[in-house]
Amino acid sequence: MTKSLRVDVIQPEGASLPPRVSYSQLSKYNQCGLRYYFNYVASWTEPQTSSLVGGNIAHDVIERLYRLPNEERTLERALELLREHGPRLLKSPECAKFANDNAMKANVKEAVENLFKLESPSELVVEPEHLEMELEVEIDGVKFFGKVDRFTVDGVNRVTDYKTGKNPGRYVDDKLKQPYLYALAFKMQHDIDVDEVELIFLNAKHIEKRPVDFAIAEAMGVSLVRMRADSELSVTASAWDARPGKLCSYCVFEAVCPAVTTGAAKPGSIESDNALIQLGLTRRSY
Ligand code: SF4
Repeated sequence: MTKSLRVDVIQPEGASLPPRVSYSQLSKYNQCGLRYYFNYVASWTEPQTSSLVGGNIAHDVIERLYRLPNEERTLERALELLREHGPRLLKSPECAKFANDNAMKANVKEAVENLFKLESPSELVVEPEHLEMELEVEIDGVKFFGKVDRFTVDGVNRVTDYKTGKNPGRYVDDKLKQPYLYALAFKMQHDIDVDEVELIFLNAKHIEKRPVDFAIAEAMGVSLVRMRADSELSVTASAWDARPGKLCSYCVFEAVCPAVTTGAAKPGSIESDNALIQLGLTRRSY
């Protein structure tokens, strides 16, 4: 793991930790505590990226497809859904700048087409309430919430998540942490034993399935609770661990991050906030 660097910040007045913790928060925190601070405590919104927008459109179309009766789940119908809902989603203010991103559109179309090469949508039995299924559970006093792309029961209780983008390669175990955490939440919230976790890498035309190892699921719960306890300490100390590394070049806060940018103002100061506004970032209210 990258060596961390403690960075003092100014805690924005009225700011606090989010009331609930999601897997994406946990993942971001583990990458870099200071980035988590900018995002979730100081409430700066990271701008949409082409791959995030494309991923959201693919997820939306696939969810709509699986809400149809089995016999209607054809590739033609899926592409119709894409033509109908893709442009609509691209009209939202935060996505409008990707309206002419033809590479992203081609990737989404490929993702939808590949779904039919990886599984048979017309044969899959899935209850509508098991699509985009919300989980909310308290793990050792920490409120966790998540949204499962799909839960199926066909002799095997299976949690499935779709992924767009490239093959995860050696990072696949890292990607599996999310459905393992969902398996823990299923057990705690519904007393359902998830037998298998599945990741469908649409663009990479790859499916990764694993039997649930409940020890890993429980370890994910421990990691979530530890993250919350550590972030509470960081709020109290007004200091967060930055982890400079390869991912910094993809971080929108790089230019204002004292761990990597010499002379950057203290995060949370007026100077730092103004620099972020100059970069075009906006913040949610808290
Ligand atoms: S630039 Fe790097 S160290 Fe700084 S907040 Fe972003 S990820 Fe963390």
